[in-house]
Amino acid sequence: MSGRLNGKVTLITGAGSGIGKAITHLFAAEGSSIGLMDIDQSGFNLLTEDIKKIGVEFITVEGDVSNIADCKNAVETCAKTFGKIDILVNSAGVTPRNAPKEWGFEKTWDWVVDVNLKGTVMMSKFASEIMKRNRLGSIVNLSSILGIVGYSEDISSDGFSPYTHSKGGVVQFTRDMAVQFAKDNIRVNALCPGFTYTPQTKRLTDDDEMKKKLESLHPMGRLGKPDEIAKAALFLASDESSFVTGACLPVDGGYTAK
Ligand code: NAP
Repeated sequence: MSGRLNGKVTLITGAGSGIGKAITHLFAAEGSSIGLMDIDQSGFNLLTEDIKKIGVEFITVEGDVSNIADCKNAVETCAKTFGKIDILVNSAGVTPRNAPKEWGFEKTWDWVVDVNLKGTVMMSKFASEIMKRNRLGSIVNLSSILGIVGYSEDISSDGFSPYTHSKGGVVQFTRDMAVQFAKDNIRVNALCPGFTYTPQTKRLTDDDEMKKKLESLHPMGRLGKPDEIAKAALFLASDESSFVTGACLPVDGGYTAK
């Protein structure tokens, strides 16, 4: 099999759903061995059947990225199995929209920031220790358009959304880590997708009126598809972006260009 990630080992969080799942498919098809991590392995069932058909090696690890021991375990298990980690994709993420109704502001804020920001930081911390040994690595973080701009007035937010706080943190973490780790030949970049059809946004896109509103906020007049985000992740993860680090790339149909 010849692919753009031949010989590479990728660890992907949130691999069982949405954007992480699309990235897993594409990276496997491009020849990478894959470590799949997710909080719930049930999302892996069909996915692992697909990966088996593609024929690359893979392992699955259940874990919560907001738990430091789980992050360490996922990185160590992947490194032990494959002998290295070349690429880390931090796709695990949550939105306050999907928090249990009975949670108040503080609990919801902690949850979202812990998963989206702390999880990204912890996974990167452990994976970069492995990458340093080989003086080679590429980390791709999933931020968001909402890590760059505030919520539009057309989408309800009270100005205190932990989603924007966490995704803005991911942007700045990406830049800081990129600067600090350039000397170790570890590149760190982020994707800032616009609204994309995944289980995370299903509640919004199932509502026709909201869907139209969201479409109108993107100059291209539509929402993104997970494989469109995956293709941008492939560019940032692969050697094709060898002189790109600290970049936060909008993949958003023009949302942040307005
Ligand atoms: P998704 O379909 O909900 O997938 C996220 C995956 O992460 C799910 O499998 C989820 O498991 C898992 N996960 C949640 N909490 C976790 C934890 N603590 N530890 C490990 N795994 C965990 O979401 P998506 O839309 O693909 O989003 C992927 C990333 O892109 C997220 O960081 C998201 O914020 C970002 N993003 C999404 C959009 C969009 O419009 N979809 C736009 C911009 C950025 P469960 O399903 O069991 O919770």
